[in-house]
Amino acid sequence: MSFVETVPTASAQPASDGRIDLIGLSREELGALLASLGEKPFRTKQLWHWLYHRGVTDIGAMTTLSKPFRDKLAQSCFVGRPRVAEEATSGDGTRKWLMRFADGNEVESVYIPEDDRGSVCLSSQVGCTMTCKFCHTGTQMLVRNLTAGEIVGQFMAARDSYGEWPSPTDDTRLLSNIVVMGMGEPLYNYDAVVKALTIAMDPEGIAMSRRRITLSTSGVVPMIRRLGHELDVNLAVSLHAVTDELRDRIMPVNKKYPLAELMRACREYPPASNARRITFAYMMLKGVNDGEADARALVALVKGIPCKFNLIPFNPWPGSAFACSEPRTIARFAEILNEAGYSAPVREARGQDILAACGQLRSASMRERLSRHKARVAAGIEDDHPHPRRQPGTLPFPIPEGASRDQ
Ligand code: SAH
Ligand code: SF4
Repeated sequence: MSFVETVPTASAQPASDGRIDLIGLSREELGALLASLGEKPFRTKQLWHWLYHRGVTDIGAMTTLSKPFRDKLAQSCFVGRPRVAEEATSGDGTRKWLMRFADGNEVESVYIPEDDRGSVCLSSQVGCTMTCKFCHTGTQMLVRNLTAGEIVGQFMAARDSYGEWPSPTDDTRLLSNIVVMGMGEPLYNYDAVVKALTIAMDPEGIAMSRRRITLSTSGVVPMIRRLGHELDVNLAVSLHAVTDELRDRIMPVNKKYPLAELMRACREYPPASNARRITFAYMMLKGVNDGEADARALVALVKGIPCKFNLIPFNPWPGSAFACSEPRTIARFAEILNEAGYSAPVREARGQDILAACGQLRSASMRERLSRHKARVAAGIEDDHPHPRRQPGTLPFPIPEGASRDQ
C-alpha cells in the first residue's frame, strides 16, 4: 500500500461556509469552475492574472472582471492565504513565518536573502514520516500533507509580507527562488507539491523559472524519476552517509531505497548536466560520517553524476543524539571534495538571532497527530528505533541558507 494513499492527504478545503478557495486550483480546474458559473473561458486568464500576478485577495477589487461576475464569484469562492501566526526577522535579513492553515495546523516558512537572490523555503507536510535520526521534524509524527494551495500559499504570504506584488521580473524580484526544504518530505506529497510548483511556474502568474526552484528529498527513488520527467526542477538529495549500513541507521528511508538505487536515480535525473547539477546535502556528524575515508568514499559514490555538495553543520536540538563535527574536520572534508573537483561550500547558519524563537513557536498541529507507528507503517518503513520527542512546529535545521546557493 503506498504512503500517498494512506496518510490524511488534504484536498482543497472548502471554507466552513462552503466557499471554494481559488488558490491551489490548476488553470484547468479554474476554467471548469468558471464554466460551471456560466463564464467564458477567457475569464480564466483574467482571474489567474489577478490571483497570481497581482496577488489580489479581494475579489471585489478585480476590476477588469464585470461587477456581476465578481459578485457571483465572491458568493461561491474566496482567495485563501495561510495566516501568519508569527513572524520574526533576523538582523541578517532572514525572515521566518509560522503559517497557520484553516484547520489550525501550522508550518514554518523562511525567506533567506543573499547577494544575488532571495530564497523562500517552503514546507510540504505538517511533520514528516521519514524519522531521520538527526532531524527535529523527523521526531514529529506526520499530521497531514499540505494541499497545493497551502504550499504555493506560503510563497504568496511571503510575497504579501514584502509587498512584492504584482509579480516582478526575474531580475528585480526580492523573492527570486523557491526551495522546497522546509518541514516534510516533498516526494511523499508528490501531487500537491507538483501542482503547487506548476502554479508558481506559470508564466502569466508568479512566473518562477524552474531553474530557480530546488526540491530537496531524503531519497524517494521512484518519485525522483517522476519528478525529473514531469517537472524538471533542480534536485537536492539529503545523502548524509556513504554506506547503506550507516544510512539505514540514520535515514530509515534507505532500507527501502538503498544507496545504489538512489545513485542510479540521480544519475538518470534528466536535468543533471554540467549546467544544472544535483546538490548532495551532507550533514557533518561528529565521529559518525565525517572522516577522510568518508569523504573519499563519497567521491567514489557520486562518480559520473554532475553534482556539487553542500556540507551542513549539524544543528543540535534537545534530545538529539549527535554532535556537529569540528570546523577543522569539516574543512578537511571539504578539501578532499574540492580536490576531486567538486564544489562543497559549508552551509553557514543564517538568522541565528531568531533561532531561539524557532523552538518556541508552538504548533497546534500536534494535537491531531497520527501515531508514529501508523505513520511509519503507512510509509512502508519498519519502526525499530526509539526516537526522542521534539518540540513541534520547527524547521528541521537552522536556516537552509547554503541550499539556496544551488544554482
Ligand atoms: N525532507 C527533505 C526536505 C526537508 S529537510 C529532505 O530531507 O531533504 C531539509 C534539510 O535539512 C535536509 O537536508 C535535512 O537532512 C537537513 N536537516 C535535518 N535535520 C537537520 C539538523 N538537525 N541539522 C542540520 N540539518 C538538518
Ligand atoms: Fe523528514 Fe527531511 Fe527531516 Fe528526514 S530530514 S525527517 S525526510 S524533514
